[in-house]
Amino acid sequence: MTEAWALESDGQLALGPVRVRVPAKINLHLSVGPLRGDGYHELQTVYHAISIFDEITARHGDSLVLTMQGEGQGELELDDRNLVVRAAQALATSAKVEPKARLHLRKQIPLAAGLAGGSADAAATLVACDALWGTGYSRADLAKIAETLGSDVPFLLHGGTALGTGRGEAVSPVLARANKWHWVVAFADGGLSTPEVYRELDRLRAAGAAPKPLGSADALLAALRQRDPAELGAALGNDLEAAAVSLKPELAATLQAGRKEGGAHAALVSGSGPTCVFLATDATHGEQIAEAVSPHARSVHLAQGPVPGARVG
Ligand code: ATP
Repeated sequence: MTEAWALESDGQLALGPVRVRVPAKINLHLSVGPLRGDGYHELQTVYHAISIFDEITARHGDSLVLTMQGEGQGELELDDRNLVVRAAQALATSAKVEPKARLHLRKQIPLAAGLAGGSADAAATLVACDALWGTGYSRADLAKIAETLGSDVPFLLHGGTALGTGRGEAVSPVLARANKWHWVVAFADGGLSTPEVYRELDRLRAAGAAPKPLGSADALLAALRQRDPAELGAALGNDLEAAAVSLKPELAATLQAGRKEGGAHAALVSGSGPTCVFLATDATHGEQIAEAVSPHARSVHLAQGPVPGARVG
């Protein structure tokens, strides 16, 4: 069998390995509304895909097997608790094909970091297996399956910058200028469990100790139509930040270092944390912020956004 890369999913069975790259996400705006009857909070969020990537390579095989390297190696279970395996199984069931593939995950997005790495891997797997098996699904078909796998998975198929509502699964693209924004991304030691961070926010709110809820994303959406990082910086916000900092108090020093010493336009916790992100004017400013933040972080990365979602190639 030849090892030619498949370039597009066109309903044809791919002969060789299919490689799919998928970005991490940050939330430029994350407004957490009341707890719903189904146990989820009502969200209004602006997702933004940045240039830190995981990669899935899919090959034909006799059964469904997952191997991995990189972030989380040795910690992340590779059986059907892994979102990669669950995504492959969900696509196979829907498309009525045998779930047979050898999948390899190269992971740069840390675990439980508020960057939706697991959701990214699920989105990448849907795209890779769709091409490998020649299911010929449209993006809309894949998005329906994505929704069943997790709230952030539909966005990671899509990428770019998008508004998420409901529990985050209903995504629509945001009208924005074709800007590239420069981000500094600080990985922390250890992760935070998303459900625990939401519970901590509920606790802080019940005790009257949480900051005023952010509410509407209108100011952020308006700032995205301009080119001014100071304006965008002033409009960024995350209702989960207080809860993440309450569970991991050392994040306060990380945020402070980027803001004060690095002169970032904004410093905020990404999603449920503990990753912190900082907005820079350009790559040179990004280096300056990275230097200020690095004593407080496990590692620091420069990234740009927006970038496309899960894509073959
Ligand atoms: P989110 O912001 O979507 O809650 P996160 O970035 O905080 O996500 P993830 O790394 O996406 O966290 O996943 C959290 C948990 O999901 C992990 O601790 C792990 O137990 C489980 N998981 C299952 N599959 C994967 C995967 N492929 N990559 C990462 N985590 C996975």
